Amino acid sequence: MTNSFHPPVRTLMGPGPSDVNPRVLEALSRPTIGHLDPAFIQMMDETKELLQYAFQTDNKLTLPVSAPGSAGMETVFTNLLEPGDKVIVCQNGVFGSRMKENVERCSAEAIMVEDQWGCTVSVEKVEKALTENPDAKALAFVHAETSTGVRSDVKVLCELAAKNDCLSIVDAVTSLGGIELKVDDWGIDAIYSGTQKCLSCVPGLSPVSFSERAAKVIQNRKTKVQSWFLDLNLVMGYWGSDAKRSYHHTAPVNSLYALHESLVILQEEGLENAWDRHALNYQAFAAGIEALGLSFVVEEDYRLPQLNAVSFPDSIDDASVRSALLNDYSLEIGAGLGALAGSVWRIGLMGFASNRKNVLFCLSALGNVLTDSGMDASSARATAAAKSVYSSQ
Ligand SMILES: *Cc1c(COP(=O)(O)O)cnc(C)c1O
Repeated sequence: MTNSFHPPVRTLMGPGPSDVNPRVLEALSRPTIGHLDPAFIQMMDETKELLQYAFQTDNKLTLPVSAPGSAGMETVFTNLLEPGDKVIVCQNGVFGSRMKENVERCSAEAIMVEDQWGCTVSVEKVEKALTENPDAKALAFVHAETSTGVRSDVKVLCELAAKNDCLSIVDAVTSLGGIELKVDDWGIDAIYSGTQKCLSCVPGLSPVSFSERAAKVIQNRKTKVQSWFLDLNLVMGYWGSDAKRSYHHTAPVNSLYALHESLVILQEEGLENAWDRHALNYQAFAAGIEALGLSFVVEEDYRLPQLNAVSFPDSIDDASVRSALLNDYSLEIGAGLGALAGSVWRIGLMGFASNRKNVLFCLSALGNVLTDSGMDASSARATAAAKSVYSSQ
């Protein structure tokens, strides 16, 4: 006989999923109802409005795709692109290369603008690529590169795209709810996010939003979207605002209760307050990290408060520190990816997990484990440095 599965209780401070608010878990366990039940449809309408608030947009075409962030990425590219289109793709980490894959699988051409891992997307390089490719249909880039902890300047990049009559495509999987993001003010045409990062909801849904201009591009396609499941012209028969909703696929009913609850929590806190909270906890954490003798990969101006890429001395064994944190403290932090594998940790302070208790807990646990590994890393000094940031507020 196989027993029921009971996961260990962890503190999740990696690159996602982040700790889920207990209110969200409670919402998830409410009774399942039909996906065309009038009560459910009302909740869907509220969810769309809450997403418009989180994205700071009036875009009508705003909805959660029934699959994780990667499916939101795929939704944006498959709906906007047709064979032969040209897209400028910025790559400064893992997720830019996935955008390239998406573009090519749509039989479109990706013009790559590459920056080093750990650096922000270069505005000058993008400007040059746009000038050299006046026929490009879209400019695509990642707002918060989770593989390196870098923020790029969405506002400036979208202005450049608009000036060159290009659609802007933004990956906001890790940024939504964690740092300033204003879809309408910044002129973003297509954006996708995820639920398990700064929204602190369960994984498996991907909020997306499209400007009027992008929605028209989708409506006026010459060819069918190659993916039946992700074709928004069909999905909107269910998620659209028509009184009559028709079956497309069975919505993940309980996951949508969870998303609704996480967005209600965000609205209660207020978007700006959530951004400020992420910034403050980062500052306290950074003071502690430096007191431990560790350093950041990313230049201060471009760091993400919700995802910290921290480098450590060669004498420290990456995997054994992470497993000591997991086994002794039930604390998950992330390993480095790609070019940064083995040389950095990715420590998340996302959503519900971005709080004072986690900052102090992580610094103490890390200080203890590093001391055991022979480093002069005092937990007491680290937590004192963090506390002094809190008390100066
Ligand atoms: C996590 C992440 C994704 C993918 O989201 P999944 O939910 O894992 O599919 C895409 N882009 C960025 C920047 C991410 O951090």
